[in-house]
Amino acid sequence: MMSKTHIAVGMAAALAIAPTGSPEACVAAVVGGSVGGVIADCDITPSRAHKDALIGRIIVVVIAVAAFVADRYYNAGLCDYLIGHLGVELVAGIVLFAALTFLGAHTDHRSFTHSIVAMAAFCFAVYLICMPLLPYFAMGYASHLVLDVTNKQDIRLFWPLRTQVSLRLCRAKGVTNTVVMIVGFATTVLLLAYRLQLITLLV
Ligand SMILES: [Zn+2]
Repeated sequence: MMSKTHIAVGMAAALAIAPTGSPEACVAAVVGGSVGGVIADCDITPSRAHKDALIGRIIVVVIAVAAFVADRYYNAGLCDYLIGHLGVELVAGIVLFAALTFLGAHTDHRSFTHSIVAMAAFCFAVYLICMPLLPYFAMGYASHLVLDVTNKQDIRLFWPLRTQVSLRLCRAKGVTNTVVMIVGFATTVLLLAYRLQLITLLV
């Protein structure tokens, strides 16, 4: 699937497990779900000339900035958490996250980063950096693997085993991708409004 689709579905999956009436959880779900939704594709490097991956990264940065503003507006506490946990664990988490991203950028597309092992390692890094983001990041990451498994192109879900996994249901680009992206964004907007108790349609 394409990056916008992964971001949309990642946020929707994360918001699905967020508690209602908690702006703090919504901010964490949007940040964790969007980053978790696309980080597996850090194995698509600029040298591999993939415009879609670049767009995905720009969108995630925009979402992160918007979430930072929302964090201050709702006094959601994510920034306060980070400031309050400055220390060895935070630095270790950032170093691990950067190292995994670097490793991913130097491995084949849909191999290491598209595995359960990499998901666990990235989740551990996020746990060290900002624990409140962990469940939402994990949901975003899991949604990426689930979506990519449906594609015709294999992923190495059980890396380092060489087993290739694919349900061969659809192409990464195309009508299915567009439909899933629209449903993902629509679900994100509805869930966000519901979680923030702006609407009560889903009661
Ligand atoms: Zn992928």
